[in-house]
Amino acid sequence: MHVGILGGGQLARMMALAGVPLGHQFTFIDPAPDACAQNLGQLKMIGWDEPEAVAEALADCDCVTFDFENVPASTLAYLAKHHQVQPNPSALKVSQDRLTEKEFFSRLGIPVAPFASVVSRPELLAAIETIGVPAVLKTRCLGYDGKGQALIRSTEDLEATWQQLENSDLILEGWVDFHHECAITAVRDFQGDIKFYPLTHTVHEQGILQFALSPSPVNSQWQSSAEEIARTVLDELDYVGCLTIEFFVSDKGLIVNEFAPRVHNSAHWSIEGAVCSQFENHLRAISGRPLGQTQVHGHSLMINFIGQMPSQAMLEIPNLHWHDYGKKPREGRKVGHATWCVHDWSGLKAGLKSFESFLNQDRYQTLSGLVELAD
Ligand code: AMP
Repeated sequence: MHVGILGGGQLARMMALAGVPLGHQFTFIDPAPDACAQNLGQLKMIGWDEPEAVAEALADCDCVTFDFENVPASTLAYLAKHHQVQPNPSALKVSQDRLTEKEFFSRLGIPVAPFASVVSRPELLAAIETIGVPAVLKTRCLGYDGKGQALIRSTEDLEATWQQLENSDLILEGWVDFHHECAITAVRDFQGDIKFYPLTHTVHEQGILQFALSPSPVNSQWQSSAEEIARTVLDELDYVGCLTIEFFVSDKGLIVNEFAPRVHNSAHWSIEGAVCSQFENHLRAISGRPLGQTQVHGHSLMINFIGQMPSQAMLEIPNLHWHDYGKKPREGRKVGHATWCVHDWSGLKAGLKSFESFLNQDRYQTLSGLVELAD
């Protein structure tokens, strides 16, 4: 089967690494000449906003998917006239606009932070009046990894925040005073069968995922609620493929932050930590094959490498799996990750010290706190 992927980044690369053993071939559409998936298939350097050219480049593909949610939904809709495109373009469209997404969850009775649309300064003042501070002002579209958002701690921050973001359509969200963050990845096939991975404990800094621990050591009581929410969303969207929902865990229980209609960073651990990874399951789903098992092998800790890769001496740590995406180092850029698999939580504690020399002090402290949670 020939799979076309809009986007040629690390998610496309890991899909291809999982898909070659299934007998798949890959074509990636990405305008960047150094797109890191390119060694695993054919790269066509075309802009995602050129639907005719993209359709022509993918003419031989049996199915089409994407690794990036800022691909224009209109390009996907155009491709869907001739190709099997999954997840479907309308699911992508809901996730591309934070306001539409929040309204979607609210309509389904799924808890989200209080929110309001903001297009002018008076609207921002009115929204702050209703929602209160602290609050986060976010661009409705094209934001990811914490980009396009600013925290309003007090009304004194209003003017600076407004000036930073005023030229976009915005959403104001109430700040959720959460204990933890976690995420669930689920996969749905064409028949509507769904499999769930366990809830993963996630730690973000400046909006970027730093660590993921799965199964979550502290949130297992929320597994069935998270599955119920994910099932509602997947069925409503008539979704095929993997989808991740990110949650805040607060005194009020689970509050949804957002969903990603694709394979997701919080489930990279599943490559080594589950019977069938999210990448393989996404491909199995979109190519109409039976889904693989989502059971886990022990416990997994995923560490993101942001900006640059650490020393390869880290490979000496037993049971550590290394993923270098082959991207040029750049501040704030996800360039790789490692997954460390252990049989039980005590293994995590016993091995923690071996990471000290590879992480800066702040990251090591955060990791130590995470391991303590698991104790
Ligand atoms: P986002 O880009 O919306 O996924 O946000 C990235 C990260 O910023 C989240 O994982 C949280 O750590 C934090 N964040 C975003 N929105 C809120 C909110 N309304 N309340 C508390 N934290 C937030």
